Amino acid sequence: MPVRVGALAAFAGTVGLGTISAGEAAAKPAKPEAPVVLPGNIEVPANLNLPPELDKALRGLALPTIPRPGVAVKPASGTVTSGYGARWGAHHDGVDIANRIGTPVYAVTDGVVLESGPASGYGQWIRVRQDDGTTGIFGHVDQSFVREGQRVTAGQQIGTVGNRGNSTGPHLHYEVWNAGGSPINPHAWLANRGVHL
Ligand SMILES: [Zn+2]
Repeated sequence: MPVRVGALAAFAGTVGLGTISAGEAAAKPAKPEAPVVLPGNIEVPANLNLPPELDKALRGLALPTIPRPGVAVKPASGTVTSGYGARWGAHHDGVDIANRIGTPVYAVTDGVVLESGPASGYGQWIRVRQDDGTTGIFGHVDQSFVREGQRVTAGQQIGTVGNRGNSTGPHLHYEVWNAGGSPINPHAWLANRGVHL
Protein backbone atom coordinates (compact mmCIF):
# COMPACT_ATOMS: atom_id res chain seq x y z
CA MET A 1 0.00 0.00 0.00
CA PRO A 2 2.57 2.62 -1.01
CA VAL A 3 -0.06 5.30 -1.65
CA ARG A 4 -1.45 5.12 1.87
CA VAL A 5 2.01 5.20 3.41
CA GLY A 6 2.88 8.25 1.33
CA ALA A 7 -0.31 10.02 2.35
CA LEU A 8 0.36 9.34 6.00
CA ALA A 9 3.87 10.71 5.71
CA ALA A 10 2.59 13.88 4.03
CA PHE A 11 -0.07 14.29 6.72
CA ALA A 12 2.48 13.85 9.50
CA GLY A 13 4.76 16.38 7.87
CA THR A 14 1.98 18.95 7.68
CA VAL A 15 1.04 18.46 11.33
CA GLY A 16 4.68 18.70 12.36
CA LEU A 17 5.25 21.94 10.51
CA GLY A 18 2.05 23.39 11.93
CA THR A 19 2.82 22.62 15.56
CA ILE A 20 6.43 23.76 15.68
CA SER A 21 6.12 26.93 13.63
CA ALA A 22 8.21 29.71 15.13
CA GLY A 23 5.40 32.22 14.65
CA GLU A 24 3.00 30.29 16.86
CA ALA A 25 5.61 29.74 19.56
CA ALA A 26 6.41 33.44 19.69
CA ALA A 27 2.72 34.35 19.94
CA LYS A 28 2.21 32.32 23.15
CA PRO A 29 2.28 34.31 26.38
CA ALA A 30 5.50 34.09 28.37
CA LYS A 31 5.61 31.32 30.97
CA PRO A 32 5.67 32.44 34.60
CA GLU A 33 9.12 32.18 36.13
CA ALA A 34 9.90 28.85 37.77
CA PRO A 35 11.55 28.60 41.17
CA VAL A 36 15.30 28.17 40.91
CA VAL A 37 18.06 27.28 43.36
CA LEU A 38 21.23 29.33 43.55
CA PRO A 39 24.60 28.11 44.85
CA GLY A 40 24.51 27.98 48.64
CA ASN A 41 20.99 26.52 48.89
CA ILE A 42 19.33 29.88 48.23
CA GLU A 43 15.90 29.40 46.69
CA VAL A 44 14.37 32.01 44.42
CA PRO A 45 10.58 31.53 44.49
CA ALA A 46 8.47 31.54 41.32
CA ASN A 47 6.83 34.90 41.93
CA LEU A 48 9.23 37.37 43.44
CA ASN A 49 8.06 40.99 43.45
CA LEU A 50 11.32 42.50 42.30
CA PRO A 51 11.98 44.94 39.48
CA PRO A 52 12.29 42.84 36.29
CA GLU A 53 15.99 43.64 35.80
CA LEU A 54 16.86 42.56 39.34
CA ASP A 55 14.72 39.42 39.10
CA LYS A 56 16.40 38.46 35.83
CA ALA A 57 19.89 39.10 37.25
CA LEU A 58 19.13 36.96 40.31
CA ARG A 59 17.83 34.06 38.22
CA GLY A 60 20.91 34.34 36.03
CA LEU A 61 22.96 33.08 38.98
CA ALA A 62 21.02 29.80 39.07
CA LEU A 63 22.79 26.54 38.56
CA PRO A 64 22.24 25.08 35.07
CA THR A 65 19.08 23.10 34.48
CA ILE A 66 19.84 19.44 34.94
CA PRO A 67 18.58 16.96 32.35
CA ARG A 68 17.27 13.43 32.99
CA PRO A 69 15.27 14.10 36.17
CA GLY A 70 14.63 10.98 38.22
CA VAL A 71 17.56 8.93 36.94
CA ALA A 72 19.36 7.63 40.03
CA VAL A 73 21.92 5.01 41.05
CA LYS A 74 23.38 3.69 44.31
CA PRO A 75 26.11 5.97 45.72
CA ALA A 76 28.34 2.91 46.33
CA SER A 77 28.16 -0.85 46.52
CA GLY A 78 28.61 -2.50 49.88
CA THR A 79 26.87 -3.41 53.11
CA VAL A 80 24.50 -1.01 54.84
CA THR A 81 25.82 -0.87 58.40
CA SER A 82 23.79 2.09 59.74
CA GLY A 83 20.58 3.65 58.54
CA TYR A 84 19.02 7.04 59.00
CA GLY A 85 17.67 7.71 62.49
CA ALA A 86 18.52 7.35 66.16
CA ARG A 87 21.91 5.82 66.83
CA TRP A 88 24.04 5.75 69.97
CA GLY A 89 21.90 8.40 71.66
CA ALA A 90 22.14 10.79 68.71
CA HIS A 91 20.63 11.15 65.28
CA HIS A 92 22.42 9.61 62.33
CA ASP A 93 21.68 11.89 59.39
CA GLY A 94 22.68 9.52 56.63
CA VAL A 95 23.19 5.95 55.56
CA ASP A 96 26.48 4.12 55.97
CA ILE A 97 27.64 1.75 53.24
CA ALA A 98 30.69 -0.24 54.23
CA ASN A 99 33.21 -1.40 51.67
CA ARG A 100 36.94 -1.47 51.05
CA ILE A 101 38.93 1.75 50.76
CA GLY A 102 39.10 2.60 47.08
CA THR A 103 35.61 1.31 46.21
CA PRO A 104 34.05 3.69 43.65
CA VAL A 105 31.65 6.39 44.87
CA TYR A 106 29.10 7.51 42.28
CA ALA A 107 27.00 10.62 41.72
CA VAL A 108 23.48 9.45 42.55
CA THR A 109 21.72 11.79 40.10
CA ASP A 110 22.86 14.27 37.51
CA GLY A 111 24.01 17.39 39.30
CA VAL A 112 26.60 20.03 40.04
CA VAL A 113 29.41 19.75 42.57
CA LEU A 114 28.98 22.35 45.31
CA GLU A 115 32.08 21.47 47.30
CA SER A 116 34.88 18.94 47.42
CA GLY A 117 37.41 18.97 50.22
CA PRO A 118 38.08 18.59 53.95
CA ALA A 119 35.13 18.81 56.34
CA SER A 120 34.96 18.42 60.10
CA GLY A 121 33.75 14.96 61.12
CA TYR A 122 33.36 13.86 57.50
CA GLY A 123 37.13 13.89 56.98
CA GLN A 124 36.74 14.73 53.34
CA TRP A 125 33.38 15.26 51.70
CA ILE A 126 31.83 15.88 48.32
CA ARG A 127 28.57 17.84 48.19
CA VAL A 128 26.50 17.63 45.01
CA ARG A 129 23.42 19.66 44.04
CA GLN A 130 21.19 16.81 42.85
CA ASP A 131 18.62 16.92 40.05
CA ASP A 132 15.67 17.79 42.31
CA GLY A 133 17.34 20.60 44.25
CA THR A 134 18.42 18.37 47.14
CA THR A 135 22.05 18.17 48.17
CA GLY A 136 23.83 14.82 48.33
CA ILE A 137 26.67 14.61 50.84
CA PHE A 138 29.33 11.94 50.43
CA GLY A 139 31.40 11.65 53.61
CA HIS A 140 34.71 10.05 54.62
CA VAL A 141 35.77 9.77 50.97
CA ASP A 142 39.36 8.76 50.43
CA GLN A 143 39.82 10.39 47.03
CA SER A 144 37.77 12.96 45.18
CA PHE A 145 37.85 13.22 41.40
CA VAL A 146 35.64 16.31 41.11
CA ARG A 147 35.85 20.00 41.87
CA GLU A 148 33.41 22.77 42.73
CA GLY A 149 31.18 23.81 39.85
CA GLN A 150 31.71 20.60 37.87
CA ARG A 151 28.68 18.96 36.23
CA VAL A 152 28.29 15.28 37.03
CA THR A 153 25.93 12.62 35.73
CA ALA A 154 24.19 9.80 37.57
CA GLY A 155 26.58 6.87 37.87
CA GLN A 156 29.70 8.93 37.22
CA GLN A 157 32.51 8.05 39.64
CA ILE A 158 33.22 11.10 41.76
CA GLY A 159 35.50 9.57 44.39
CA THR A 160 36.38 6.52 46.43
CA VAL A 161 35.29 5.05 49.75
CA GLY A 162 37.59 5.98 52.61
CA ASN A 163 37.99 6.03 56.36
CA ARG A 164 38.73 9.69 56.98
CA GLY A 165 37.34 11.87 59.75
CA ASN A 166 35.07 10.55 62.48
CA SER A 167 34.76 7.06 61.05
CA THR A 168 34.92 3.62 62.66
CA GLY A 169 35.93 1.76 59.50
CA PRO A 170 36.01 2.14 55.72
CA HIS A 171 32.56 3.22 54.53
CA LEU A 172 30.65 5.83 52.62
CA HIS A 173 28.36 8.06 54.66
CA TYR A 174 25.66 9.43 52.33
CA GLU A 175 23.19 12.14 53.31
CA VAL A 176 20.42 13.93 51.42
CA TRP A 177 19.50 17.46 52.45
CA ASN A 178 16.36 19.18 51.25
CA ALA A 179 16.52 22.61 49.61
CA GLY A 180 16.06 24.18 53.05
CA GLY A 181 19.27 22.57 54.29
CA SER A 182 17.76 19.88 56.54
CA PRO A 183 18.71 16.20 56.31
CA ILE A 184 15.95 13.92 55.05
CA ASN A 185 15.70 10.13 55.04
CA PRO A 186 17.96 8.96 52.20
CA HIS A 187 16.38 5.48 52.16
CA ALA A 188 12.95 6.91 51.35
CA TRP A 189 14.38 9.47 48.94
CA LEU A 190 16.31 6.77 47.06
CA ALA A 191 13.35 4.35 47.11
CA ASN A 192 11.22 7.04 45.42
CA ARG A 193 13.75 6.86 42.58
CA GLY A 194 13.70 3.08 42.42
CA VAL A 195 17.02 2.67 44.25
CA HIS A 196 16.94 0.22 47.14
CA LEU A 197 20.02 -0.15 49.33
ZN1 LIG B 1 27.27 7.66 58.83
